[in-house]
Amino acid sequence: MPIHYNGPMGSAPDIAALLQDTLSAAQASVITQATALASAGGLPLYLVGGGVRDLLMLRPLKDLDLVVEGDAGLFADALAGALAGRPSLRSQFGTTALKVGGMNVDIVMARKETYAHPGALPTVTPSSIMDDLQRRDFTIHAIAMRLLPSPAALLDPTGGLPDLDARLVRILHSKSFQDDATRILRAVRYEQRLGFRLEPETERLLQRDVTYLNTISGDRLRRELDLAFHEASAPAFLARAASLGVLQALYPALPGGPVMQERLARLPSLGGPPLPLAYLALLAYGLGPSQRQSLAQRLNAPRAWRKVLEDTPRAEENLAALPTTARPSAVWAALQGLAVEALQAAAVMAASAHAQGLALRYLKDWRQVRPALNGNDLLRLGILQGPAIKEALAGLQNALLDGAVKTVHDQEAFVRQWLKTHSHRS
Ligand code: ATP
Repeated sequence: MPIHYNGPMGSAPDIAALLQDTLSAAQASVITQATALASAGGLPLYLVGGGVRDLLMLRPLKDLDLVVEGDAGLFADALAGALAGRPSLRSQFGTTALKVGGMNVDIVMARKETYAHPGALPTVTPSSIMDDLQRRDFTIHAIAMRLLPSPAALLDPTGGLPDLDARLVRILHSKSFQDDATRILRAVRYEQRLGFRLEPETERLLQRDVTYLNTISGDRLRRELDLAFHEASAPAFLARAASLGVLQALYPALPGGPVMQERLARLPSLGGPPLPLAYLALLAYGLGPSQRQSLAQRLNAPRAWRKVLEDTPRAEENLAALPTTARPSAVWAALQGLAVEALQAAAVMAASAHAQGLALRYLKDWRQVRPALNGNDLLRLGILQGPAIKEALAGLQNALLDGAVKTVHDQEAFVRQWLKTHSHRS
């Protein structure tokens, strides 16, 4: 993967060419309009964060993070007006988030941050771009591309450029993980996403400070885990987090390195990438009910997360209880209603190839089976309003699953037959 900041003989990079080569048309247009507005207002303007990292690595940018020295609010309102004609959303920290097409554009006032205690939200004061870069998580995220005043230039006060080149994730100071332990999860996530390594001293400090994860609220931890579960490199994230002791610092009953490795090694049996929360199910596999509950509490888990945590042991048990002769309708009855993510984990971890096969068939085919007829069709065919409708539909569903009926014609014939055999009740 080329990194593009060195011009010939180590000279300054050609920023205009970098922007032109790497930005989408929509992103380029945002940059052009932002630059015109900031120029009119005499405001220094910078592109920062992951966008600069991706530009320098010649990777497509997801979002744009802009920093303004001065009144970012007014600037953001003007940019919102110019781009989307919509008012901007402003957070308490002078941060504005704009949605432009599918892209997020964040506009932030250059600020200095201090932490009253580990895990506290930062105290923010307006400041310069240099201070703004010093508050960031890693050197590779502390590079600013100055758009204004011209000429465009890269500002790299912490050595992010050489770290990009050496493919290292490095924190900015030795208390960084203590100030904000979400950086522990971020460090592993970016390391795995980018195919970088933790810089050795950063790795040592991460392991030293892993217990500071206790200072982070459930919501913030969950948000970081969720981001990690959505990455294509989620399995590598989990393997690395487990081997660094990060998972067990999150919750002591979560697996360490070897156990996590074993679980992840089984993932390919799924035949495709799992849903993000299947990683949660896999993490929590084998935990007892009270452990699941306290993990859910620790993560302040919302309903969908709780359902996955609760359904995973059910999926495991119901699957294990199916006889080898189970028909599709019996599998459906045992597994329907359980969270798909829980079933994916149960399929991955199934004790036998046969049970795994049943879970996979359910996920791939049987889960989707629905009769072509609905309640109204059954009324039309003569079944009376009431519980009979539900019963007949269930019978039809089973017949479909087990291959006894296929076409709409078959299904209508099934209902007529059902009516005959159940006529005393309908
Ligand atoms: P991507 O969107 O590709 O995951 P990103 O760097 O844009 O990468 P964000 O989470 O949007 O990710 O963060 C934007 C920037 O804000 C980061 O590049 C970093 O400079 C800063 N940042 C985010 N979280 C923290 C944190 N916990 N501590 C310090 N700086 C942070």
